[in-house]
Amino acid sequence: MSAEILNGTRLAQRIRSQIRKKLKKLKFTPGLAVIQVGDDPASTIYIKHKQRDCEKVHFHSEVHRLSSEITQQTLIQKVVELNTREDVHGILVQMPLPDTIDEQVVIDAIVPDKDVDGLTPFNLGNLFINREGVTPCTPTGIIKLIEFTEEPIEGKQAVCVGRSHLVGKPVGVMLLNRNATVTYCHSRTKNLAEVTKEADILVAAIGKPEFITADMVKPGATVIDVGINSVDNRLVGDVKFDEVKEVAGFITPVPGGVGPLTRAMLLENTLKLASR
Ligand code: NAP
Repeated sequence: MSAEILNGTRLAQRIRSQIRKKLKKLKFTPGLAVIQVGDDPASTIYIKHKQRDCEKVHFHSEVHRLSSEITQQTLIQKVVELNTREDVHGILVQMPLPDTIDEQVVIDAIVPDKDVDGLTPFNLGNLFINREGVTPCTPTGIIKLIEFTEEPIEGKQAVCVGRSHLVGKPVGVMLLNRNATVTYCHSRTKNLAEVTKEADILVAAIGKPEFITADMVKPGATVIDVGINSVDNRLVGDVKFDEVKEVAGFITPVPGGVGPLTRAMLLENTLKLASR
């Protein structure tokens, strides 16, 4: 039987309407500031979507576009300036940054109270010790999608393929905090398919088009495809969707799966920070 497709677009719409309701209780407008360095076309599209989402929930949003020639110090000064702005509640530095800039040093400059993507060491530390806080948008969206299946997480075997700070590592910790038994896989993992085949919950955050094939998936598994890869002018995930959907129990599509949830979580985190 074919897997149930987890419609991220619809779930994100529902979350935005909940945000609009919660917003009525606030006496001011939440504000999100995005910094873009350079003019990477994919980043420009992602930022446009984020701004459109902000409009949909009546948040203030602003984009600071800086030259790709900018120095790390000047970029940090921009972050510091936004840190002090009362009308800005969330600061997002759109990745990737030019090779001349150390991304983590820039993230470190964001005050944790405005760290809308939960990537500062303070917020990641809180996640690590399972303390309430702001958690990274993509992993939080992944958890929402898994919870949407109404299948329990506790006691399940979860496998994360990918261990980036942005996705793989934090989503594994979030699953662990929900009492899954978590295995991380990465580029040095041996016998990858043997490991992924054990997964009740399989998260693919690799950045390699259609890397996860049906023979790597346990029948009935929940498969979350985080990948966004452009192949022949079309977007594909890290999972070979057409064949894996015949084996999995639940599966996210690309586009329309994790992406919309990432953006919805950006709004939720902005509201959370504004409400503090
Ligand atoms: P990343 O930083 O490049 O990390 C990729 C991970 O995949 C690394 O941990 C790497 O292992 C692992 N990997 C690479 N080749 C592998 C192989 N052959 N076998 C097993 N593991 C392998 O990427 P990322 O930032 O986590 O993003 C992953 C994908 O998700 C990308 O396509 C990105 O565009 C997408 N993404 C989507 C969203 C969204 O909202 N939908 C958000 C963020 C990212 P090593 O650590 O050993 O190198």
